[in-house]
Order: sequence, then structure tokens, then C-alpha cells
Amino acid sequence: MEVKILGGGREVGRSAILLKDREGSILLDYGVNFDEKDTPRLPLHVRPVDISAVVISHAHLDHVGAAPYLYISGAPRAIATKPTLDVARLLILDFLRLNAYYIDYEIREFDRMYNNTEFLDYGEEVSINGFGVRLYNAGHILGSSTVYVETPSGEKVLYTGDFNTIQTWTLPSADVPTISPTTIIVESTYGNRNHPPRHLVEKRLLEIVEETIDNGGVVLIPAFSVGRTQEVMSIIYSQAPYIDIYIDGMSRDITDVYLKHKKYLRDPGLFAKVVEGINFVTDYSMRKKILKKPCVIIASAGMLKGGPALYYFKHLYRNPRNSIILVSYQAPNSNGHKILETGILDDQNPEKIAARLEWLDFSSHAGRDDIVKYISRFKDSLKRLVIVHGSEEEAFGLANKIRNELGEDLEIHIPQNGETVEIKE
Ligand SMILES: [Zn+2]
Ligand SMILES: [Zn+2]
Repeated sequence: MEVKILGGGREVGRSAILLKDREGSILLDYGVNFDEKDTPRLPLHVRPVDISAVVISHAHLDHVGAAPYLYISGAPRAIATKPTLDVARLLILDFLRLNAYYIDYEIREFDRMYNNTEFLDYGEEVSINGFGVRLYNAGHILGSSTVYVETPSGEKVLYTGDFNTIQTWTLPSADVPTISPTTIIVESTYGNRNHPPRHLVEKRLLEIVEETIDNGGVVLIPAFSVGRTQEVMSIIYSQAPYIDIYIDGMSRDITDVYLKHKKYLRDPGLFAKVVEGINFVTDYSMRKKILKKPCVIIASAGMLKGGPALYYFKHLYRNPRNSIILVSYQAPNSNGHKILETGILDDQNPEKIAARLEWLDFSSHAGRDDIVKYISRFKDSLKRLVIVHGSEEEAFGLANKIRNELGEDLEIHIPQNGETVEIKE
């Protein structure tokens, strides 16, 4: 058997991993990422006729964004949870709206994939051409999965996708299933770093919110519409229901998908109550109105690259009573990164940001020690580790830490794109 890396080798995103066995091949994710100029980058090519199925671990574009390419000329079977493809459809519509020039498929190819999908719940098994596939909760976003594959030749492979081992307000922590994988393919976004304890980050968020509102200011929280928005609104509403919370951007549709699949949530009843207690911004006049009173506005995009978040930012940054709290990863070329580094948004109009500016780590990826702990649970059966979805620094840092914990016998691979890991028994 072999593991071929088509994307996500020593880089974050563009995940695409081909498991090749004598009977055929199975593709784990087929995502995109973006270069410094925000142009989408695809993983290496694979012919749809050469794969028995494609498994989509979760709805983020860096795991699903290239998958519809497989449906231009082909129709392989797909495997995913229902919420994964329901969220993915919204993200892909938005992706196509912004990147149609670079992308050769249309929404009908995504819909073709949807119609070819075998929807699995966590723990259910499907068998395709001798590959047994199961999905388990990954704790990362709604419907996110770790993928367990038993190949025709008897290899047992666990692919983590993106995963989070801590419980959050919206999602349970990643499952640790009773399986005996011989190979683990693990993400390493935070392979060399730990996150601060989540309860401290939440406490800090609430403190800033309370102080700002008490001072008569507005709190703007730019957030990704999938996951982060729902998490942050749950934290604030559950603990400070007397504060007015407004949600703007694509998050409304995404929140509807969250409600539709509420059995995937940690506490469906609580989430329904949160959604009832917050307000969705429905039109432009409402946008203008809420800027004039103390409240919390959670809006996309999370890196201030555009969307309503940027609109609010431009109206709020001059007033020192307001706060802007960034709660998502800020890519080096993003507005969010720029204002954190320089305190200025626009070079042409270099006006200092007077509002309070903070960045809080609400990551939905496991940190280094949590990854090591998760992998250690499988140490009795584990023979090799393939580290993907992380920069070189993160991937090698993780490898060192795991070597220290699990010893020299474990094979560790950190393949580049195009590289193949041979598995011989
Ligand atoms: Zn990812
Ligand atoms: Zn992800």
C-alpha cells in the first residue's frame, strides 16, 4: 500500500491524500489554498476514474474546494457527513463568486458530487471496493470528521483531517475511537505550539466586552462565518445575555445549517436558545442603526479582508471607546494581520486605530501537546506517522516531540507534495 501526498505536504491547506492499495485507490480530501495574492492553488491532479471514492473530512475549502473538479468528467462516489456537504455548498458558492476566473467548475459539479455522496453518521461504516471507511467526530467544525480506513490489504489508516481535542461551547471534543490504526496521517497546523487554556481566553473576551459596553462603546468581532461566529456568540450570550449581540454576514445561513443538524452540536438546546437570543442584521439601515449604541457585532470576514466586518471596522476604529477583537487566525497578507502589526489599515490614509485592538486565540485545531496525547492513545498498534497540513517548522517540531514521547521505533514521515510513503508489511 502507499500514501501519496497530492496537497498539504509541508503546507497548511490544499489537503489531498491518495491511499493506493492493490484493489484501487481512495482519496482523502481534495482542497484548495491561496497564495500571497489570494489566488487559489489546487492540489496535484488525480483522474476521477482512478479513485474508488473521495472522502471529505469537513467543509472548509482547504479540504473540499477542489473536489468538484472530479465531477466535471467523472462521478466517483463521495463519503461525508450531511452537515459537511451542507456547509460546504454555502462556502463553495461564495468561493465561486469570488474566484470564478480561476476555477473551472461550477456549482452543478458540486451538486453532482452531493448526489453521489454516501452520507455517514459518526461510527457508521461503508465498504467500497474493499475499503472499509468510518467517520468519527473531529471536534473542529460542524460535521467535521476523522477518517478511519481499512484497506483491502489489511492496513488500518486513521486520518485526523483538522481536529480539536478540547470541548467547546458548540462542539464536543474529538472522539478517541476504539480502533487499532497502524498508520496515522495527522494535521500539524499547531504542531509546534500550544494554545493558552481556553477558559482564560473566554474570560478575557468577556472582560473586554463588559468594559467596552460599560464605557458606552461598540465591540466588533470579525469572525469566520463557520464555527467561530457560532462559538463566540454562544460564549457571550450564555454568560452575558443582557448584552445586545448582532450577527452579520454569511453566518446567518451557516447558523441555519447548524440548527438543521443540531444533533452534531454539544448542547442542541443551549444552541437553540442562543440563536433565539441574538439578532441577525437584515439590511443596511439596521447596520447603520446598531453602530450608534453599545452592543456586540460579530461579522465576517474573520481577517477583515472584506464583508460587513470591514464596513463596521471603518466606522468604529476612530473612537477609543470601541473595541475590535480578532478571534481568528490572521494570514500574513490580511488586513487583520496588518492592523495588529502596524496599528494602521490603509497606507494611503495612515490614520492610527484609536479603538482598543485585541487578538484572542480561539483556534479550532489541537495544539502540540494535545496532538501528542491523542496519538499516544493509539501507541500499541501504531507503526508509522505521516505528518501533513502544517508548515515545515510546525511539522518537524511535532515530529521531535512525538519522537521524545513515543520512542525511536515509530516511523515518522513528513512528505512534500508529490511524495509517496510506501507501506510494506
Ligand atoms: Zn484545514
Ligand atoms: Zn478546517
